Amino acid sequence: MSDETPRVEMETDIVCVGFGPAAGGFLTTLTRGLMNEDGTPAAESKVMPGMPPQVICYERADDIGFGVSGVVTKGRAIKASFPDLDLSQIPMACEVREEKILYLGDPVGASRRPKLFELADKALGRWMKDGAYELPYIPAFLEKHPGLAFSIGQFNQWVGANLMGTGMAQIWPSSPVAEPLVEGRAVKGVRMADQGVEKDGAPGAGYMPGMDMKAALTVVADGPVGAVGQALNRKLGMPGDNHQREWAVGMKCVVDLPEGCDWQPGTVLHTIGYPEPEIFGFLYVYPDNVASLGIFVPSWFDNPVRTAYRYMQHWMLHPYLWKRLQGGTLRSWGAKSLNESGKRGEPILCGDGFARIGEGSGSTNVLIGAGVDEAWATGVQLGEAVLELLKSGREFTKENLENTYVSRRRASWVEKEAEVAKKSRDGFTKSVLSGFLGMGLSGLTNGLLNMPGQALKPQERIPSIEDYYRDVIPAGEIADIRAECAKKGASLHDALMNRAGWPEIPLDGQLLVSHQDALLMGGKVQANPGYADHVRFADPVICAACREQVCVEACSGQAIYTNPEGGAPLFDREKCIHCGACMWNCSKSDPQDRERTNVKFMAGSGGLHSVEN
Ligand SMILES: Cc1cc2nc3c(=O)[nH]c(=O)nc-3n(C[C@H](O)[C@H](O)[C@H](O)COP(=O)(O)OP(=O)(O)OC[C@H]3O[C@@H](n4cnc5c(N)ncnc54)[C@H](O)[C@@H]3O)c2cc1C
Ligand code: SF4
Ligand code: SF4
Repeated sequence: MSDETPRVEMETDIVCVGFGPAAGGFLTTLTRGLMNEDGTPAAESKVMPGMPPQVICYERADDIGFGVSGVVTKGRAIKASFPDLDLSQIPMACEVREEKILYLGDPVGASRRPKLFELADKALGRWMKDGAYELPYIPAFLEKHPGLAFSIGQFNQWVGANLMGTGMAQIWPSSPVAEPLVEGRAVKGVRMADQGVEKDGAPGAGYMPGMDMKAALTVVADGPVGAVGQALNRKLGMPGDNHQREWAVGMKCVVDLPEGCDWQPGTVLHTIGYPEPEIFGFLYVYPDNVASLGIFVPSWFDNPVRTAYRYMQHWMLHPYLWKRLQGGTLRSWGAKSLNESGKRGEPILCGDGFARIGEGSGSTNVLIGAGVDEAWATGVQLGEAVLELLKSGREFTKENLENTYVSRRRASWVEKEAEVAKKSRDGFTKSVLSGFLGMGLSGLTNGLLNMPGQALKPQERIPSIEDYYRDVIPAGEIADIRAECAKKGASLHDALMNRAGWPEIPLDGQLLVSHQDALLMGGKVQANPGYADHVRFADPVICAACREQVCVEACSGQAIYTNPEGGAPLFDREKCIHCGACMWNCSKSDPQDRERTNVKFMAGSGGLHSVEN
């Protein structure tokens, strides 16, 4: 699309991209300070003189209560924003009451365990209950007690409703922002995604070029894979040698627990060890016998068939969990990327006319996998800074934002804990064992001691399928499996996992459902017409020659699939849940930009929606 395209132009004072916890913290703080107690504006809008500053927040998804994350959090910043927080106002929220870390043994014998894990399985065997060992204590750095457990969808909806009630900010769902309006190193606002275009972006019937929304301040709160944050990283570069090479796919479901299940509301379980040693699991019990549970498949899991969905089902079937889950019913399901680079993935936090908050700004504590309260806290810090600047009549320059927002952030617990966590996962770049050792070292020494390691680009780590299965499946057999799957247009992971000893999933149509059924149950996946495909292959020729096609194996919604006629995989927007996992789960670099993969993940509307997630 050429820049000469005539576009509608509008102006506001502050435009915010994305409505997650970071934007929630920002808007909650900002809107409370925009009016004086006597009802006069605390500062004046530049675009509507006499009125308080005009604030608009654009959210890509069709609902502001969208989110995919079971949340357990200490909730320090959230509690500070709502000192009289009454959890009964938020469905599916409760206090954390009991926390356990479980080491899960391998009940099927197919997990790829390093020798030390096999020894641990044997040594701990006599103390295991239902194949799991409950660690006798939780290191203080991992503890979330006292804390909160809630559904991020319900929380976002509650925060959004409170905000709309103030009338001080507009939140627009179904509004994907295509890119920031960058002039030099300044940001002047945002450009909305074009509508009425073909899937390749070419103007179609009803073409409506995306509007330009100019603003004195653009707040980028679009999470780990947002198009605006990604564009800024590309255009402005990253500070020093920072990078965002560490990611995980978080896949979860919300489940009605069976009657008689002995998990009480506020129970929090963290698991390690199974289905593969690299995969972490979580389970949080909400009131009314409902639980949120799932796994994280990280970038250092060097398996080209890294299908989170099937691994999640094997995890649920672990005897310790299945004993309590059997008879339960799936209410909803989803997946989302998690930026695991943390502080090391911190981009340029502000510049003339823009500031970044939340996970895309590197706020997530990667040692303990906590991002919600951290994102909220950075939003609060920016909210306070913006009020200070507005009230003193100062501009949103880089210098002023550094002195108000960034200085608050640097002095806060978010920064201190992110520093402790910064190198905590470096060990995983070598092996899973040095990874766990590194986490323990960093956590117990407050970040003083760490396991060294150099993060590679994920696409540089992924081995070929033949290499990964070298000791398990002969290359000739892999070739047969490839040919068979290609004929059916099917992905390889089921066939390869079956062959590698993983039992078939005993689908029960209730909790253990097919991947396709999960897309349809307890949430809606929709792709609004008139938008361009938001997942594209930078160089389809590279895809055509790609033998791993990790994007197909890892796609959370089965939206990327093998082309039965050969060539690059195909993309079906109707199934895409916008998790962004394809962007990093690709084994080849973008030839134009070697830091990034051959998948371009752009702004788009639709996706998976469930306020329960
Ligand atoms: C399965 C899972 C479990 C997790 N569990 C926990 C936990 O227990 N505790 C915890 O503290 N953290 C947890 N996290 C991490 C936590 O969810 C994130 O750290 C947190 O959501 C980050 O908040 P955010 O506001 O920065 O970004 P997000 O929550 O990602 O919000 C960004 C918003 O921006 C929108 N957006 C993106 N692009 C655009 C665009 N171009 N235009 C308009 N809008 C856009 C997105 O749709 C989204 O709503 C978990 C994550 C996952 C995936
Ligand atoms: S997107 Fe990446 S992994 Fe998928 S086919 Fe193309 S090059 Fe291979
Ligand atoms: S195509 Fe959609 S569902 Fe599949 S990995 Fe990419 S973003 Fe996720």
